[in-house]
Amino acid sequence: MEQQLIKLLDNSLECTSCKIKNNQIILAIQSVKEKLSCPYCGCPSARVHSVYEREIQDIPFQDKQTILLLTTRKMFCDNLDCTFKTFSERFDFVNPKGKKTIRLMEKILVTSTKLSSVSASSLLKNRICQSLQKQHL
Ligand SMILES: [Zn+2]
Repeated sequence: MEQQLIKLLDNSLECTSCKIKNNQIILAIQSVKEKLSCPYCGCPSARVHSVYEREIQDIPFQDKQTILLLTTRKMFCDNLDCTFKTFSERFDFVNPKGKKTIRLMEKILVTSTKLSSVSASSLLKNRICQSLQKQHL
């Protein structure tokens, strides 16, 4: 089930674990691509430098906050003419340094344009207060 859900976000992803903790759904995901193209020169590389984890918020599911733990690879670029020695894996669904998926940001944007800016900001503020209160319980 979670495999199918995550493929809706990006077909090259797989879900390695899924758990519900407090009011959050936490999905650990990673790319199944073996080779990644250097964003600077376009050369493919399969040589992994290191691996790290990014925490990205996605659209809520069943009214629960959804967190994606995204395994991200840092790769070597083996093209001698390239000015970069390494590059980080990039994904279409989130900006390189983003903390939220693009579809979540679009949803927030739609919400804020539908409502007046005052009611949108109070709605978002309430949500943030609620999630802060829950974290402190
Ligand atoms: Zn390169």
